[in-house]
Amino acid sequence: MNQAIRPRILASACPHDCPSTCALEVEVLDQNTIGRVRGAQDNAYTAGVICAKVARYAERAHHPDRLTRPLRRTGAKGSGQFAPISWDDALDIVAEQFIRAEHVHGSEAVWPYYYAGTMGFVMRDGINRLRHAKKYSGFFSTICVNPAWTGFIAGAGKLAGADPREMAKSDLVVIWGTNAATTQVNVMTHATRARKERGAKLVVVDVYMNATMRQADLPVLIRPGTDGALACAVMHCLFRDGKADWDYLERYTDAPRELAEHLHTRGPAWASRITGCPTETIEAFARLVGERKRAYFRLGYGFSRSRNGAANMHAASCIAAVTGAWLHEGGGAFHHNDAIFHLNKSLIEGKDAADPKIRMLDQSRIGAILTGDKDALRGGPPVTALLIQNTNPVAVAPDQETVKRGFAREDLFVCVHEQFMTDTAQVADVVLPASMFVEHDDFYLSGGSQYILLGPKLIDPPGECRSNHDVICGLARRLGAEHPGFAMTPRELIDATLQKSGWGTLADLEANRWIDCQPDFATAHYLNGFGYADGKFRFKPDWPNVPFSRAHGTVAAPMPRLPDHWEVIEEADIEHPFRLATSPARGFLNSSFTETPTSLAKERRPEVMIHPDDAAAHAVADGEEVTLGNRRGVVRLHARLFEGVRRGVLIAESIWPNKAYADGRGINTLTGADAIAPFGGAAFHDNKVWLRKLAR
Ligand code: SF4
Repeated sequence: MNQAIRPRILASACPHDCPSTCALEVEVLDQNTIGRVRGAQDNAYTAGVICAKVARYAERAHHPDRLTRPLRRTGAKGSGQFAPISWDDALDIVAEQFIRAEHVHGSEAVWPYYYAGTMGFVMRDGINRLRHAKKYSGFFSTICVNPAWTGFIAGAGKLAGADPREMAKSDLVVIWGTNAATTQVNVMTHATRARKERGAKLVVVDVYMNATMRQADLPVLIRPGTDGALACAVMHCLFRDGKADWDYLERYTDAPRELAEHLHTRGPAWASRITGCPTETIEAFARLVGERKRAYFRLGYGFSRSRNGAANMHAASCIAAVTGAWLHEGGGAFHHNDAIFHLNKSLIEGKDAADPKIRMLDQSRIGAILTGDKDALRGGPPVTALLIQNTNPVAVAPDQETVKRGFAREDLFVCVHEQFMTDTAQVADVVLPASMFVEHDDFYLSGGSQYILLGPKLIDPPGECRSNHDVICGLARRLGAEHPGFAMTPRELIDATLQKSGWGTLADLEANRWIDCQPDFATAHYLNGFGYADGKFRFKPDWPNVPFSRAHGTVAAPMPRLPDHWEVIEEADIEHPFRLATSPARGFLNSSFTETPTSLAKERRPEVMIHPDDAAAHAVADGEEVTLGNRRGVVRLHARLFEGVRRGVLIAESIWPNKAYADGRGINTLTGADAIAPFGGAAFHDNKVWLRKLAR
């Protein structure tokens, strides 16, 4: 008699590059198969809600295009011609090539390159153990967080803020620079609770009328890179209208009177000219902030994608200090909780083997590095061998034409360890099949909330897929790299790291599923002082010395002394009348999920959103093919007429694979790789472009 198989429901954590890091419950149908994925109800931040793309993860894990065997290139570079080989042969080839590169140019000729395809510490960061042990070139991570993190730390002195669950207790939730409904749905859970239960108002500040802004009581639509001007005008109104909390300002901040004086000339009319936002909207925003002390500023990663992003983030974070919102439950500001976890990853990353003399290469400048730019190479040898895990630079890195030229070099050996045949795997010499999060053990932290979570192995990987840890340890053996971490299992590394960090043991984490690391109210709200020695919030940051622990040198630029609109963005000009932002698409997460049929069906095709009046001025009809271009290259895609952008602004939701574009040039053809002050970054939403109808 046939009996329905009841799936086991097992705990996990989302591994993707999303601040929520949801606590998951995964249906396990058998040793090889998962079913539905749901959010854990009893996790106070996830609260049973996850995004649709992870809910249907079975579509990705069991996709017929998963890489399942090691491959070796058989045709010309980039031809896509590969033949299967054994794991031993594949790892032997990689090791031989790394030894050869080291022999010719020294150890720094090898560059292990990785990023956030998984956020698990064992699988993401273990590659650093190999590079430290072998003295390979270092990886200076710049592509995402640097400007936003630096901007927040500039004011508060450290990267932590009010408990994100407190949003539910706010009277005003300001979601600024993040399309949370698309990219971190849990923010909306708590914001919506505040509206339903307390009658809170929701203000959303962004550069287009996206899914989050459509839910706002007050949508504040601005031009890209003008957040600093908006923040200044809001603070101007607060000082002008007697809504600044002077007791708080005198006690907790560094230069309130200078700030008030400085803002005198930066009112709504001034900001309106810069942001494109009507003065009435700016006044209405300021009124809400002034009237509702429990105002929670949820500041997102949109700030990071602009050349003036650090200054903009800092300016936005200053508002809560002007009103003293930090004093109240449900008030204050939040971007990320990095500072509360104090994880000691020395064993995973092999930090004891680190040599400070080894150069650090900027992740965002991979194109310049691979094409031999002396500055980008920091005066050192060329990179002639790459090991790439968890990232897809041929699609996601800025200045794509240069990146492609670099990867086309005949003297460059490339090994890519991946789940799918990405744009980067396509140009590799050796491709290794990688496991997914339900197929290996790892642990995660949720920077958008306050949890450490376990993601144990639930099923076997398909075919011959291996984990990142297995590959790193397999290469270490062949390369003679020595470190205790190479002899440990992922579970042993998790256990040892938790214990070193003071968070108990793996057994504890396994029993409890997650650790709530939330500091007490006074600490989270800086009631005992902000993160600087004198306890004062900085309206006047010392930018080159902002305590950003990941910095490797500074980008010299005279940054604003006090909050301001910093005019370093790529302003439109006669030749390039539009400003382009490459915002995240709902169905994708960076370049992940661009392979799943449901995401592809929902996103349809690469498009650029354009205001109907701009479209009319260029005689472009809805759905028509257009080209966008600037000095970095040209991209071909379809126009979508859309009222929800300021005139002169274009939005291209991304990141589609390059092959989705008619001529194979992805959206990052248009983005620049010049480093952002003060500590690097990539300005993905800060591009001047021209737009033309496709010549037929
Ligand atoms: S919302 Fe973010 S963390 Fe949660 S499941 Fe989706 S991608 Fe993962």
